[in-house]
Amino acid sequence: MQYLDSFDVVVVGAGHSGCEAALASARLGCRTLLITMNLDTIAWQPCNPAVGGPAKSQLVHEIDALGGEMGKVTDRTYLQKRVLNSSRGPAVWALRAQTDKREYARTMKQVLEATPNLTLRQGMITDIHLDANDTVIGVSTYFDIHFACRAVILTTGTFLAGRIWIGRKSMGAGRAGEFPAEGLSDTLRQLGFETGRLKTGTPARVDRRSVDYSRMEVQPPDDEVRWFSFDPRNRIEREQLNCYLTRTTEKTHQLIRENLHLSPMYSGDIDATGPRYCPSIEDKVVRFADKSSHQIFIEPEGRDSLELYIQGFSTSLPEAVQIQLLRTLPGLEDCVMLRPAYAVEYDYLPATQCAPTLMTKRVSGLFCAGQINGTTGYEEAAAQGLVAGVNSARLVRGEPLMTFIRESSYVGTLIDDLVTKEIREPYRMLTSRSEYRLVLRSDNADRRLTPLGREIGLIDDERWRLFEQKVSAIAAERTRLETTRLNASVLPDYLHIRGSITLAELLRRPGLHYADLTGSGWSNCEVSTEVAEATEIDIKYHGYIGRQNEQIERNSKQLNRTIPEGLDYHTLVTLSKESREKLTRIQPRTIGQASRVGGVSPADINALLIYLEVQRPRTSNY
Ligand SMILES: Cc1cc2nc3c(=O)[nH]c(=O)nc-3n(C[C@H](O)[C@H](O)[C@H](O)COP(=O)(O)OP(=O)(O)OC[C@H]3O[C@@H](n4cnc5c(N)ncnc54)[C@H](O)[C@@H]3O)c2cc1C
Repeated sequence: MQYLDSFDVVVVGAGHSGCEAALASARLGCRTLLITMNLDTIAWQPCNPAVGGPAKSQLVHEIDALGGEMGKVTDRTYLQKRVLNSSRGPAVWALRAQTDKREYARTMKQVLEATPNLTLRQGMITDIHLDANDTVIGVSTYFDIHFACRAVILTTGTFLAGRIWIGRKSMGAGRAGEFPAEGLSDTLRQLGFETGRLKTGTPARVDRRSVDYSRMEVQPPDDEVRWFSFDPRNRIEREQLNCYLTRTTEKTHQLIRENLHLSPMYSGDIDATGPRYCPSIEDKVVRFADKSSHQIFIEPEGRDSLELYIQGFSTSLPEAVQIQLLRTLPGLEDCVMLRPAYAVEYDYLPATQCAPTLMTKRVSGLFCAGQINGTTGYEEAAAQGLVAGVNSARLVRGEPLMTFIRESSYVGTLIDDLVTKEIREPYRMLTSRSEYRLVLRSDNADRRLTPLGREIGLIDDERWRLFEQKVSAIAAERTRLETTRLNASVLPDYLHIRGSITLAELLRRPGLHYADLTGSGWSNCEVSTEVAEATEIDIKYHGYIGRQNEQIERNSKQLNRTIPEGLDYHTLVTLSKESREKLTRIQPRTIGQASRVGGVSPADINALLIYLEVQRPRTSNY
């Protein structure tokens, strides 16, 4: 086979996972090809023009802390920022940014184009070539161009045999206006991979000149702008736009009930499973029949765009019905629809076929990241792309591949769930998925992961210097608060203080915040909002955080115990038949991962621990 060129790493698809994967691999010195079906839709947001929100915000902060790009690009292209759940504890504070989707895509493309070692190319990969040891050696495009390489990362999104539906009619497409990826699903099945079918959907877009905002509730941005990136060199405040809130009416619900038979999900045309936590409006009306109304957010797609995104109103009903439906919403009575809503179904590869490194178990050098692994969401995709990019580079450099454990991050939680649990519906990250959410907060993502990003080689010297500076500022401020003692006489009576109290003890009091110290001149005006906030959280939640860390310590000895690769579970007769089958298929790497495999009981885990105690093998984890 005549190869046109040879690369270390080939990344297939320039969506949110492909961009992070290609940047990580190139920044780690690998000659990287990023090949995608359309160079004009790199890092495109086909669904909501937004980044972040509950649990997704933690992922974006973690991607940034490790040296990824999504947080920076979002901070440079946001239209509006809000912190959700700010009235609750810091574990669930969630920064969410409305992004200008065209500016987001353009900015990410410029970053890619400016990155050394990285080549962008348009093309559709249909074939993967292996050597006799089932190791990747190259790829081919539909038009017979061949590239040699030592690692391939598949980040094909919703494109593998993609088909979009509006009403009972459908056409082949990865998303509206873009043709599907043909041939690659067959190639993967011929290589022995299992594929499945999933579905997701997006709402219509309407012309902003045709809506009446006076009939909606304004959703203004927060006064204080927060940042996804910990890198202060990347911060430019931008003029912010409003979003709006309207609601469905009884008329909306009645129209949906009358036309449900025209929805491909309810007519049975689509047999794929959709995202439980991102339901279509049809699903909401059917599943929550007791609710008389659902919130609908009206979001701008861009600073100069006429398009408004109707968040919470995704559907695949016929266009004519969609227009009627939209016009039942207060403020949209005369709206003009610019793009119809639709559903897309596509092939994915259940990620139990990957190791926690995201390399497939069947083919060495082949990695999968993003929607192809069964997730939904830009943030989930980007996190996987970063990990696959780092590990493909380490593979090429002959270094041990990395596994991110649940205790360290939402990135670790996400990947562990994907490679351990049999995902049969699009997986979206939620804070409830992490048993360690009190320590896996957005504010401390850099303290948890930037040292690892530095070790990997994705954090440059200046960023590291700024990080160390911040960490020591937090430590110094904490010491100041812990050691500054105030006499009760200088404190307001309503605090009922006797004798004296330290500023830290004062801060631990419910309802008192660092900002309250400022009023009395006890704060330190030299520290940044971030340092003040991080210090306050460390002090206020010291007890809870301490207990969770002890729990992690206690568990990790047991749960991170490794299991020898290729263990023949069928010989372990003390395990139940079901768990022998499941463990054989999943091949978990640790006791912890084994305990999370569906159908494996605590008794099976005990039997496995006894077996390992007798055998006693040893390996390393990060
Ligand atoms: C209609 C629709 C609705 C959605 N709704 C939601 C939602 O409600 N909530 C949510 O969180 N997420 C939603 N998403 C999903 C979200 O867009 C994805 O989760 C995210 O974009 C996945 O990122 P990715 O990098 O895996 O793939 P994508 O962003 O889909 O990018 C894949 C890229 O791969 C390229 N490609 C594919 N196959 C090949 C090939 N063989 N050769 C070369 N290039 C190839 C494509 O051109 C594309 O650029 C929706 C997506 C769509 C299309």
